[in-house]
Amino acid sequence: MNNTITTYNPYNGDKLNRYTLFSTEKTHSILDAAENTFNDWKLTPIKKRAKLLRKLGDVLNENIEKYSKLITLEMGKPIAESRAEIKKCILLCDFYEKNAARFLSDHIIDTEAHESFISYDPLGIILAVMPWNYPFWQVFRFAVPTLTAGNTGLLKHASNVTGCALAIQECFEQAGYPIGCFQTLLSNHEDIETLIKNDNVKAISLTGSEKAGISIAGTASTVLKKSVLELGGNNACIVLDDADLDRYLNTMVKARFQNSGQSCIAAKRFIVTEGIYDTFLKRFKAEVEKLKYDNPLKETTQTSVLAREDLAEELQKQVDSSIKKGAKILLGNIQKGAYFSPTILTDVTEDMDVFTEETFGPVAPIIKAKDLDHAISLASNSRFGLGTMLFTKDIETARNKIGSINDGAFFINDMVKSDPRLPFGGTKASGYGRELSQEGILEFVNIKTIYINK
Ligand code: NAP
Repeated sequence: MNNTITTYNPYNGDKLNRYTLFSTEKTHSILDAAENTFNDWKLTPIKKRAKLLRKLGDVLNENIEKYSKLITLEMGKPIAESRAEIKKCILLCDFYEKNAARFLSDHIIDTEAHESFISYDPLGIILAVMPWNYPFWQVFRFAVPTLTAGNTGLLKHASNVTGCALAIQECFEQAGYPIGCFQTLLSNHEDIETLIKNDNVKAISLTGSEKAGISIAGTASTVLKKSVLELGGNNACIVLDDADLDRYLNTMVKARFQNSGQSCIAAKRFIVTEGIYDTFLKRFKAEVEKLKYDNPLKETTQTSVLAREDLAEELQKQVDSSIKKGAKILLGNIQKGAYFSPTILTDVTEDMDVFTEETFGPVAPIIKAKDLDHAISLASNSRFGLGTMLFTKDIETARNKIGSINDGAFFINDMVKSDPRLPFGGTKASGYGRELSQEGILEFVNIKTIYINK
């Protein structure tokens, strides 16, 4: 069995580094450290735990160039977007530093008892399995609330961002977190299955594909452990006849093409009503054509390679099969190695892969709708449920549709995005549970009822 991980720069194929997977003994000693640290960490006052977040933010800030470059080298994100990712992690630290103690303070409930309240206790070791597309942000949005709540964390990161995985552990250590509070594991899928079953691991947080969700949550269910799943998405972006293209066209382009199209909450199906369809196509194409492709390390680069060649090949298969069913290429559809050019497909119908499956790259399928109700019905025809966005000047009509959207988020005149202040998560095949905000910090705590009679 291969016990090494080799990382490559997807832009030029250069080998970056080689790592050896941890032995069973090393994994056990990491588990022991996480458990021992938990026993002290859970007793550390919440204010003291939250205070460390200031230092964590400082470490990120001091190393922003180093970490941004590492992200870009390992997964090909344009450097300006890598920097923005680190800055967002700093905002997250700031948010929970200011709010965690309030979120976790005892909640008094009036009953017949002399005293009754809810307390929020940490659970223990929480295992995180994370993806490569936002290699710092995904891990931080798990770790910051989870650790601040008094748990300890173990990270199994995507193999292609192993350098980031180790750098994140370094961040926590440099910020002064007790050794064992946050540790990175270099493990294969079989080791993770064993870990999920380990008694000391109390819950699992996975951000990744539907397939990984089924496997990991499946294992967790055999030992009755909680999991939070942040999985794939197929968000619709509805553009109505009265959409303000002057104001929001750039937002729509960004909604699909940021991170070279590799975002779970990206706009993956553009559903456009008849009255604006031709204008939208013309203007959308003109904007997408302007996206500057280059080496992701260059400051001016707006779009670059995908994170791995196999991802570009997979995307090509989805596009090819949709073209066979009648989709037309308005722009792009050039794949070479890990490169996939920004692509627009028209004449897309509900039976095509680019409609039914998640496309994880720079492909914008366009679907024509008769009116708002038809658009909502097309948008809802998905087994995913991360979010829907709707562009219109008629806010009241849009507001009336809130109840018709069964996703984790509904954004009117903006792209679906994550924000530390707002809960984030999906429905249906996009997973369950929430991250960020108060809801996120309460996922990995024991919500304990206290009832006192005199
Ligand atoms: P992936 O292939 O599912 O991998 C995600 C993580 O799971 C990696 O660390 C991977 O490790 C691990 N993994 C996969 N199968 C496993 C198994 N059976 N046992 C243990 N670990 C396993 O997904 P990806 O390609 O990295 O990420 C893209 C997917 O993530 C997309 O579907 C995207 O929509 C989704 N995503 C969702 C959100 C959200 O918040 N909802 C955010 C970002 C991304 P290896 O690398 O070693 O295989």
